[in-house]
Formats: sequence, C-alpha cells, structure tokens
Amino acid sequence: MEDYIGFANLPNQVYRKAVKRGFDFTILVVGESGLGKSTLINSLFFTDIYSNEYPGPSQRIKKTVQVETSKVILRENGVNLTLTIVDTPGFGDAVDNSVCWQPVLNYVESKYEDYLHAESRVHRTTIVDTRVHCCLYFISPGHGLKPLDLEFMKKLHDKVNLIPLVAKADTMTPEECNQFKKTVLNEITQSKIRIYEFPDCDDEEENKHQKRIKERIPFAVVGSNVIVEANGKRVRGRKYPWGVVEVENMEHCDFVALRNIMIRTHLQDLKDVTNNIHYENYRCLKLGAVGK
Ligand code: GDP
Ligand code: MG
Repeated sequence: MEDYIGFANLPNQVYRKAVKRGFDFTILVVGESGLGKSTLINSLFFTDIYSNEYPGPSQRIKKTVQVETSKVILRENGVNLTLTIVDTPGFGDAVDNSVCWQPVLNYVESKYEDYLHAESRVHRTTIVDTRVHCCLYFISPGHGLKPLDLEFMKKLHDKVNLIPLVAKADTMTPEECNQFKKTVLNEITQSKIRIYEFPDCDDEEENKHQKRIKERIPFAVVGSNVIVEANGKRVRGRKYPWGVVEVENMEHCDFVALRNIMIRTHLQDLKDVTNNIHYENYRCLKLGAVGK
C-alpha cells in the first residue's frame, strides 16, 4: 500500500511556492447518509478523520441537514496541506428533501462572502482560503439518478466544482457498474448539468494516461477503514466470503483514479477554477447588485 498521498508532486515552480505557503484545500462531501462518505474520506487521506471515538456526523445527528467541518494538516515532501473536510450529515434523510441543498449552498456562498470581505480589506496580508474547492457528490448505486440528485447538482453546478461519484461500487457487478455509470453520465448531460472537467495538461504522455482516467468518470468508489489480506499482501479492502475487494486496485474500482486526479494532478486546477470562475461569478453578482 502506498503510504503517501502525493499532493507534493508538483511542477517545480508551484512546488517552490507551496513549500513556503502550503496549500489550503477544502472538500465538501454530500450524499445521503450510509453511502460511505466518511469511510471514503478516511481511505483517501489515511487519517482517521472519523474514528470510533468520533464516529462522524452521520451517526450523531439525523434528519436536518447540518454542515460540519473537520481539519487535518498533512505534510509531505516539505509541503503542508491543510485539508478541510466539510460533511453534510442529514442530507436527503428528511421526509421532504425539496430544499436540502439550501444549507449546502449557504455554506459555499458564506465562504465566498468571507473571502470577499478579506479581499476588500485595505491591508491584504495572506488570506486564508476557506472556499470549497470541490464537491464530491455521492450517488447511490441503483438504476439512475434520483430527483434529489438532479436537484442538488442543478443548484450547485455553477457554484462549485462538482465531482459525481458512484458510491459502494462493490455492491454491483462490473457490468452493472459500467452500465450504471453510463446511465448517470447520460442523465447528467441531458439535464445540462456541468460537472467539473479535468483539463488536459501540457505533457502528451501524461495526457494519454489521464485520458484513461477520465474515461472512468463518474468514478465508482469503494471505501474501507480496515486492512485485510489479499494474495499475501496487506491492503485496504472489504472482505467477502468469495474474496477481497481492494480499494486501491484499479481493476476493482476507481478509487486510485479519483485520488490521483483530484489530489496529485488537478488540485491546483480545482483551486484555480474555484477562484477564477465560481468565486468570480459570485463576486460580480454581488458587486453588481450593490451598484444597482
Ligand atoms: P456516510 O453516512 O455516508 O458517512 O457512510 P459511512 O462511511 O458511515 O458508511 C456507512 C456504512 O457503509 C458502514 O457500515 C460502512 O462500513 C459501509 N461502507 C462504506 N463504504 C462502503 C463501500 O464502499 N462499500 C460497501 N459495501 N459498504 C461501504
Ligand atoms: Mg458520515
């Protein structure tokens, strides 16, 4: 098992800056409770952000959508990544879910508002960036998107970088999973929902490699908080009577693809798009409204 995440694999120029200042990166996780959000976050960052003592919000609060943040500082290769995870327990759990995107939207916009305030102060020292840089939206494995999924994505797609995930991919056969991914992507396109597009990079070879990763969108993920044995190796996985599903095996699911593209290769782009597009939209609307 790899024991590092790889956010410090940066181009030289970015690396030098990052060594000095470090990164702030905020991930928002949204989806109905029980879809494996907390487990996946733990799997992604090797840290027990949620542990037995701190079981994660979904086990503690129910029914109303809350927004809860946890912070960890990871250090790799001399670079600090201050990672903030924003969880939304209670999402989709109520009888009437027609406005359950609202608290999430409020959170995203409140961070833009904070940033706008900080920017407009006369002495702008380094502003801590608490804006949401990407939203992992967990889709329940099944036949297609639910009305709630469509509603949420429509409300948030022009506010934040949306990355849809197929949750608990191990509950489907590979054929079912591929079919489900196609259906989901179709529905997203038909509904004119814009998910985050991973741009190409400058390197030809790297692009070829990334093309294969991008073909896997929406990423179908499996999470696990335990280490099990598979073929003599100790791996993060889920053990079944018929075998082990390995989280970090690309033949079993897209976990590694997601981690590579989000954390290794596109972290800076997620930050740039947040700043240059989503935040800029917010800022223009806000300042425009004041001018009227
Ligand atoms: P959350 O409410 O979305 O945060 O979900 P949790 O991470 O608390 O997981 C809910 C339950 O689903 C737990 O029993 C997990 O062990 C299980 N679980 C988490 N991830 C997976 C997965 O990828 N596949 C399967 N089959 N179960 C999972
Ligand atoms: Mg949870």
